[in-house]
Amino acid sequence: MLPSGNPPSTPTDHLSTDSLSTDDWPSKDLIGSDRSGLPPAGETGDVDAVLAVLQEVPDPEVPVVSVVELGIVRDIDWQDGRLVVSVTPTYSGCPATEAIEQHIVEALVASGYSNPLIQRRLSPAWTTDWLTDAGREKLRAYGIAPPVGSTSKRSLTGQSDPVVPCPLCGSEATERVSEFGSTACKALYRCRDCLEPFDYFKCL
Ligand SMILES: [Zn+2]
Repeated sequence: MLPSGNPPSTPTDHLSTDSLSTDDWPSKDLIGSDRSGLPPAGETGDVDAVLAVLQEVPDPEVPVVSVVELGIVRDIDWQDGRLVVSVTPTYSGCPATEAIEQHIVEALVASGYSNPLIQRRLSPAWTTDWLTDAGREKLRAYGIAPPVGSTSKRSLTGQSDPVVPCPLCGSEATERVSEFGSTACKALYRCRDCLEPFDYFKCL
């Protein structure tokens, strides 16, 4: 089931998979936490094995970060023996959403999961707080400044312009050049010390 129109091409040639592991999945407790009970024996599967597959599905916009590290995989479950993966889009109306879901299905099918179902979960909305620490490190290594602070903290202080350290040299002498960087999800900043421009993954 390809989405109509042309999904954005996904460069994966520089995706490193050997450094990925499920060890940094911080919210394993989330999985199943909203289930009323465990499925009957024989109708469930290995959540860690599914996570290992999803760890290799890149975010189309930031291919160094997997969909697990992005925090959009919210639940892994089995219904009547069929694998069901719940996914929360990063931004409602984000054009990458259908492509991401398609990539997840393709990766699962390639790993032997027949006919997996992707459920789009819109509530609660995704926030940058769900980015894993490993995901933030990969953003920084990729030259993208990860979100600063948490959305809840920001709403308390009312601050809208956090100090964004330069991902290249670590300097805090940075300035915002444009509200929008290479994608709508990012802002363009510039470092006043090393003079390099960089993308800032905006806090949502
Ligand atoms: Zn710098």
